[in-house]
Amino acid sequence: MPGKSDYPMVIVGAGPAGSAAALTLARKGLRPLLAERFTFPREKVCGDGLTFRSLSILKELNLYERVSSHPSALPVKEARVVTAEKTVFAGPIPSLPDGTVGFISIPRRELDLILARAAVEAGAEFAENFTVTEILKENGKTVGVAGIQDGREKIIRSNLVIGADGAHSIVARQAGLYRLKPRFCEVAIRAYFTDLDEPVNWLELYYERRIIPGFAWLFPQAGNICNIGIGIRMDRLKNRSLKTIYQGFISDYPPLKKRLKKAKMLAPPRGTLIPGYGQSGKIFANGVLLAGDAASLVDPLVGEGVGSALLSGVAAGEIASRAVSAGDFSESFLRQYQKEIRRRLDPDFRFAPLFQNWPQIHKAAAAMVLRAEKDPDFAQKMIGMASGAISKREIARWSFLAPTVWGYWMEKFKRR
Ligand SMILES: Cc1cc2nc3c(=O)[nH]c(=O)nc-3n(C[C@H](O)[C@H](O)[C@H](O)COP(=O)(O)OP(=O)(O)OC[C@H]3O[C@@H](n4cnc5c(N)ncnc54)[C@H](O)[C@@H]3O)c2cc1C
Repeated sequence: MPGKSDYPMVIVGAGPAGSAAALTLARKGLRPLLAERFTFPREKVCGDGLTFRSLSILKELNLYERVSSHPSALPVKEARVVTAEKTVFAGPIPSLPDGTVGFISIPRRELDLILARAAVEAGAEFAENFTVTEILKENGKTVGVAGIQDGREKIIRSNLVIGADGAHSIVARQAGLYRLKPRFCEVAIRAYFTDLDEPVNWLELYYERRIIPGFAWLFPQAGNICNIGIGIRMDRLKNRSLKTIYQGFISDYPPLKKRLKKAKMLAPPRGTLIPGYGQSGKIFANGVLLAGDAASLVDPLVGEGVGSALLSGVAAGEIASRAVSAGDFSESFLRQYQKEIRRRLDPDFRFAPLFQNWPQIHKAAAAMVLRAEKDPDFAQKMIGMASGAISKREIARWSFLAPTVWGYWMEKFKRR
């Protein structure tokens, strides 16, 4: 007979979305169960970059100090953009409204441990090494989850399940909410390097024809380590291997080649799926809410997903606590969650898939870079948009687009 226990809600997955939900609920005096298939600390494939959105939410949760003062955290103040193998602009990364630094690099192994610990300190229960395999239903209602913990079957009774179990979410699949639309997703891969030819304390973004639609990054970390990765739109990968493209990129891309000549790769590259906001559909069902990657909430232009994972985790926690007070876990009650997420993310992300799916995206990137070379204010805006400090709605404004497109065609005309 499998072990049984009761909780007001069970949260599946202890990434930023799951821990933010658990923390929010626990701070309201509820005692959620946070089920995680690994034992912490665990590695998570990521660029490890915390942008404006992530840091703003960590502030709201009173966790910014804990994260920024961690020995593995590195504040990064400058960004450089490289295209056609040239650094085309360098500028400061916008800081948060209170003047604190707007970008921090911290390995996910450490960040996720800090977040899960904060949830436990607040009163959540953390069940590690617990793989959830099934949502349990009775008469159409969610009544809990089943899974395996330490090799033994386990059942948790609960009227509400928050699926924060990442890009391959079992909760989304079981609830019939899983989606995979390759044109809205990226596949991304990264590795850690040490001993580059010179210490780097700025981040670099690379927009090159060979990886468009997509981009590559170099994010410096504490201890003279760099996280270097690439992300490419999934449908454009076709039959090519991401690992092979990555190996080629780090070995023969001139802006990196010399700098990596004597560098050591600390472990083999690892990659996975990034589910973009463009494919996000219904993210609630009877007794079920999805948060973070499970709900496909990643910024489609830059692949930033920690911020929206935290944001949706907090929102899921808020709505879940209201559902407990109302004793109502029905689909019609939980619908407000989707409205809240759309209200918070639509203004910034709605237009992004348009650009991501535009076949001429490399021309758009080239046009923006051309303008940025000559116009420092514009360059600063581009960095602000990549970091999440400036809304992507700005890109869709005609007043923003027209001079960019005009400048691009004039330049092409002159070069003929
Ligand atoms: C190469 C790469 C680089 C990236 N770089 C950045 C970046 O620099 N900045 C940024 O903001 N975003 C980045 N992202 C995106 C970011 O990693 C994700 O958007 C973010 O991790 C989503 O958080 P989450 O909590 O929703 O899911 P996850 O972080 O994936 O956490 C899900 C958790 O659920 C657990 N789990 C899964 N299935 C089960 C199960 N059945 N039972 C129990 N537990 C389960 C997993 O073990 C995991 O701990 C990157 C992604 C990739 C692939």
